[in-house]
Amino acid sequence: MNPAASPARTAAIVPAAGRGERLGPGAPKALRSIGDIPILVHAVRSLTGCGRVGLVVVAAPTDGVAGVAELLAPFGAAVRVVAGGFTRQHSVSLALEAVPEDVDVVLVHDAARALTPPDLVAAVADAVAAGHDAVIPVLPVADTIKAVDAASTVTGTVDRSTLRAVQTPQGFRRSLLVKAHAAAGTPADEAAAATDDAGLVEALGSPVRVIPGHPEAFKVTTPFDLILAEAVWARRADETKNTFAAKYGDTDHAVPENPAAPERSADTRKTDV
Ligand code: C5P
Repeated sequence: MNPAASPARTAAIVPAAGRGERLGPGAPKALRSIGDIPILVHAVRSLTGCGRVGLVVVAAPTDGVAGVAELLAPFGAAVRVVAGGFTRQHSVSLALEAVPEDVDVVLVHDAARALTPPDLVAAVADAVAAGHDAVIPVLPVADTIKAVDAASTVTGTVDRSTLRAVQTPQGFRRSLLVKAHAAAGTPADEAAAATDDAGLVEALGSPVRVIPGHPEAFKVTTPFDLILAEAVWARRADETKNTFAAKYGDTDHAVPENPAAPERSADTRKTDV
C-alpha cells in the first residue's frame, strides 16, 4: 500500500440520493440489485475493498437515511450515512461536511458505478497521493459524436480524438474539493448543477489529471445497463468459483466458463487514456 494514501487519511463520498428514474419503475436506483446484492452495497464494497479508503460517507435520500444505514450496518464504522440534497452536487457537498478533519484525500464515487474494480479506486487514490490534486478516470470515446440543433439537424462533427468519457471515483486533495464546492454554492436544480466534481475544480482554473478508466466502471442508468451488469457479475462469480476449484480441487463447485461472457482480454481491461 502506498503509505501516503493510508486508510486513515483517505475517505470516499458516495452520492446515492437520486431516484434513478431512467431505470424505470421500482425502488431507488441504489437499492436495485445486481446478483441479489443492492447496487449501493456493490459500490461500497469496491471502495472498502481497495485497501486505501478508511471511511465511506454515503448521501442517502432524505426519506431513506434509516433504511440505507440499516442496509450498510454490516460495514460497521467504515461507513457513515447522511441525508443527501436536491442535486448530486448538493448531496456531495453535504457528505463532504461529514468527512472527518484528519482526512486529506477524498474520492467521490457514484453509487450507480456499482461494479467498479477496486484496482481502479486504488489507482485514483494513489494518483492523488502522488501529488495530483484532482484525478479522474477516463475512457476514449468509441462513437462518432455529432452536435445537433433544436430542429434535429446536425451542425457539426466533433473531433473525438480530443474527447474522453469520464467515470468515477474522482479523487481530490480535500482542501481543493472543499474550495471548489464553496465557490460553486448550492445549485437550485440539476440543470444548474455540475454533473461531476472535476467540473467544479475546472471552474476554479485548477488542473485535473486523467488516468485510464475501466469498462466495468460503467454507470447503471438504463434497464439495458442492468442486464449488462448482471452479465459482468455472473462472469465474475464464475471466475471466482473456477479459481477456487483450480486451487482446492473442488470440482463440485467448479462451473464451466459462462458462454455468454467473453474471455477477458486487453479489450475489456483497462484502456489507454
Ligand atoms: O442521475 P445520475 O445517475 O446522474 O446520478 C449520479 C449519482 O448522483 C447517483 O449515484 C445518484 O444517486 C446521485 N444523486 C444524489 N443526489 C441527488 C441526485 C443524484 O446523490 N439529488
